[in-house]
Amino acid sequence: MDLNICVLPGDGIGPEIIEQAVVVLEKVCEKFGHKLSLDEAQIGGVAIDAHNTPLPQATIDKCLASDAVLMGAIGGPKWDKIDKSIRPERGLLGIRKALGLYANLRPAKLWDELKDASFLKDSVIGDGLDIMVVRELIGGIYFGEPRGEGVDENGERYAYNTMVYKESEVKRIVKLAFEIARKRGSKLHSVEKANVLDVSQLWNEVAEEVSKDYSDVDYHTMYVDNCAMQLVRNPGQFDTIVTGNLFGDIISDEASMITGSIGMLPSASIGDGKVSLFEPIHGSAPDITGTGKANPLATILSVSMMLRYSFDLDAEADLIEATVAKVLAEGYRTADIMEDGKECLSCSEMGALVASKL
Ligand code: ATP
Ligand code: MG
Repeated sequence: MDLNICVLPGDGIGPEIIEQAVVVLEKVCEKFGHKLSLDEAQIGGVAIDAHNTPLPQATIDKCLASDAVLMGAIGGPKWDKIDKSIRPERGLLGIRKALGLYANLRPAKLWDELKDASFLKDSVIGDGLDIMVVRELIGGIYFGEPRGEGVDENGERYAYNTMVYKESEVKRIVKLAFEIARKRGSKLHSVEKANVLDVSQLWNEVAEEVSKDYSDVDYHTMYVDNCAMQLVRNPGQFDTIVTGNLFGDIISDEASMITGSIGMLPSASIGDGKVSLFEPIHGSAPDITGTGKANPLATILSVSMMLRYSFDLDAEADLIEATVAKVLAEGYRTADIMEDGKECLSCSEMGALVASKL
């Protein structure tokens, strides 16, 4: 198969982790006989420095011309004080919009080998945690109109946003979540706030309708406040969770943190078009940039998601995941997942090790 990948290293540890992910990707392609073409473009702070915008048109064009996008991380203290309209984060929102990426997939998996890194008690962890949060990414209150601010007749300032979802927007994200749940544990929780919000009532009606096509999937609804609580109290009850943009932002962060290892978690953003985007969930980690301490596994696992979701290459994706598990089982660690003081691998050593053991 031909794989045309656009790589966006970005800022901070971005270039370091991307370099290792590419080493692994090249090795997988070589092993399975795929033809890999890599292109590279700028996003975030590096793009601001070079072009005074976090998302140059050339980057959008290169992404659109590719089959899939692999991104590192963006932002850092250097660009914190510049004008809001050209902050690095705008680059990320912009590329999501440009590629029509309506779904954000965030697996929160506790690797058996890293159980000790979680603050959860063994009794709570049970058989292990493997949750997939499917978050709607380009609708809801983050984009709803009207939005704005004003001053009322008494001179008091106010501001407002609108949480709005169309039937079609709910339908496509819920459908995708059912498809994903079907391939996983066949259990789906739709998370909303239907006891208070009209928009959640519509969400539930649409989800209920879609669920009729998936009678093999165990379907539940849950209020978001309860979900936040249950994720800490009994996370093992969840397999796949689908929810809107705002709730998903919060729930996916919470779900990932209960695993205790930010350097291990990948993500995928998927859309209507052919191009999806894959990136680790962590940020640019300016505090460890250039020290070799970054854990490249989240980005390497993002490559695995890319092979699975953009190319249907399940065997290749499985091999990467199995190799990561093997390396962990053999005791290899980067600093973030190692007990203090013990010897560990650098970013490039970990990347090379995974590639060599594929
Ligand atoms: P953002 O706003 O971009 O999400 P952030 O400041 O919230 O960034 P991160 O950049 O993800 O968060 O960093 C949070 C902490 O986790 C930092 O101490 C960082 O060093 C650490 N960290 C993040 N990613 C990794 C990684 N891949 N390997 C090791 N440590 C990491
Ligand atoms: Mg953050």
